[in-house]
Amino acid sequence: MDSEKILIIEDEENILEAVKYTLTQENFDVFTAIDGEEGLTKALEIRPDLVLLDVMLPKMDGFEVCRILRKNLDMPVFMISAKSEEIDRVVGLEIGADDYITKPFSMRELVARVRNVLRRASSQTKVNDLEVIKCGELEIHLTSHKATVRGEEISMKPKEFDLLYFLASNTGRAFTRDQILKRLWGHEYIGDVRTVDVHVRWIREKIETNPSRPEKLITIRGVGYRFDG
Ligand code: CA
Repeated sequence: MDSEKILIIEDEENILEAVKYTLTQENFDVFTAIDGEEGLTKALEIRPDLVLLDVMLPKMDGFEVCRILRKNLDMPVFMISAKSEEIDRVVGLEIGADDYITKPFSMRELVARVRNVLRRASSQTKVNDLEVIKCGELEIHLTSHKATVRGEEISMKPKEFDLLYFLASNTGRAFTRDQILKRLWGHEYIGDVRTVDVHVRWIREKIETNPSRPEKLITIRGVGYRFDG
């Protein structure tokens, strides 16, 4: 299996280097950025499994970066702050950060908590095994592996069904093409993310009233897809 990818966004060089060194020793695949804008760009490019995000950053602060990441991408965010005030902690968690650590911190504690967040995140992305998902006129039945629109069964290939079920059982959450590929086609699959686009197009033709203006299976430009229930 590939190493988990961690993106560190931190402008203090000594901390950046120390954290990078430690996480590399722990066999993570580590990427770095030194300001908020660069961090956001790299997060979109690399699609890390976790972002370690400093609060006070040049160009765009960590709170803003966290907000944008949360809105558009499904990846855990771990905030680092120089301020120990409780208010920062609260704000950090309110905007959707998964965990929070205050400088100075021990590397051992950081690694333990990073692993914790990653573990939690991977268990959360498991499919909720809902037997029937209803969305307007669309019904998706897990056991019989069939979907119906206005009670009429629609013919779907197994991968189309899996993709529809996966997105619909995580309604409102965005997934990147890479995440979808890994989840439905597996890590071994050496594929093209366009495989996902093609399946999405096929599904839309079957479930959307107007496939060119989808209302259920939504494209999030530059990110991936989301199912809106
Ligand atoms: Ca800083």
